[in-house]
Amino acid sequence: MKIFVPREIAAGEKRVALVPDVLSKLTRAGFEVEIESGAGVNAGAGDKEFVSAGAVIVESEQAGAALASADVILSVQPLSAPQFKSLKVGAITISFLSPTTASENIEAAAAAGVTAFSLELVPRISRAQSMDALTSQALCAGYRAALVAAELSPRFFPLLMTAAGTVTPANVLVLGAGVAGLQAIATARRLGAVVSAYDVRPSSADEVRSMGATFIDLQLEAIEGAGGYAREMSEERAAKQRELLTPYISKSHILITTAAVPGKPAPRLVTKEMYSAMPEGSVIVDLAAESGGNVEGSKPGEIILTEGGVRIWGGKDVPSQLPFHASSLYSRNLVNLLLLMVKDGALNIDFSDEIIDAAAVTHGGARRTAKASK
Ligand code: NAD
Repeated sequence: MKIFVPREIAAGEKRVALVPDVLSKLTRAGFEVEIESGAGVNAGAGDKEFVSAGAVIVESEQAGAALASADVILSVQPLSAPQFKSLKVGAITISFLSPTTASENIEAAAAAGVTAFSLELVPRISRAQSMDALTSQALCAGYRAALVAAELSPRFFPLLMTAAGTVTPANVLVLGAGVAGLQAIATARRLGAVVSAYDVRPSSADEVRSMGATFIDLQLEAIEGAGGYAREMSEERAAKQRELLTPYISKSHILITTAAVPGKPAPRLVTKEMYSAMPEGSVIVDLAAESGGNVEGSKPGEIILTEGGVRIWGGKDVPSQLPFHASSLYSRNLVNLLLLMVKDGALNIDFSDEIIDAAAVTHGGARRTAKASK
């Protein structure tokens, strides 16, 4: 059983799918591991470390041949359509493979007779927690969001009593208290800020409070859908939420937005009118900028300075900005999923396992639908 890890080719992608620390688990399970030279260099994992951990380094000129002969290909971003076409029939790929945006890649995977797994589709059940890459990467993004906000802000986060006077703490408001939002709250709290948060799911209130933050109750109807996720709001509900949130936003020095609804563009939570009332020097971090933006005017990968002196930082490839730990957690997620498919030293794809069933997007020459959603 041969695994190949190609170098990530997407612009801005600094993560790597496998880190040296996890290699021993794979070699013990009977895998030979080949890594393209330089694949881990941006994540703090050089070729030497991989070799010491038992991997074979493949020079880039030979990467095509390694790809074509591998049984399992592990990556962060989806393989390109030409890469999928070059794989052998029956090969397994595991990566992010957004079923909504990577349709050309998925068609190529199906046509090549590859079993392609999408980490976005791993079900959020207890048994799959160790394979949940959406969670591990959202954790990195939430942490980064608070640090970026602290870095851009002209203010201290904590309360400081100094001989020159008292510094009052920053007010941080977090909208969306899922995995990323809770980690942003925890990080801002560790820096000493006064934090409050809002989410459409009332079940997040206790989690927010347990982080030492205040949960804002707007007394609006809850919007909780299947699997503990939020649903889309009606325009009427969205307008009311914006109206009720405005006074909280105008009192905040830092606004971090993380709201998402699976399979939909990010909900627009904050308009220009709302942030115009924020104090000059305030900072907005929009983690949803790449999927449409929670904040009017945010642009992925850019910092916009508004007329009112508010900086809006639009997130782009945010987990990749913490490449060491994002890769470390991601590779553990991958290995845990892959090891589910190893039985007696051989690969065995068992579709009666609900995790395998849900996450496999193509198999046997066709795009497949999970039994659970049939
Ligand atoms: P997500 O990235 O889809 O959304 C982020 C947050 O935005 C969510 O909390 C959502 O409620 C919120 N949101 C959506 N629309 C909003 C709006 N209009 N206004 C304000 N907030 C809005 O979610 P996520 O972070 O991936 O996690 C969502 C849920 O899944 C949470 O309940 C989390 O605890 C749960 N979860 C469970 C597992 C597991 O059991 N294995 C793993 C991870 C997450």
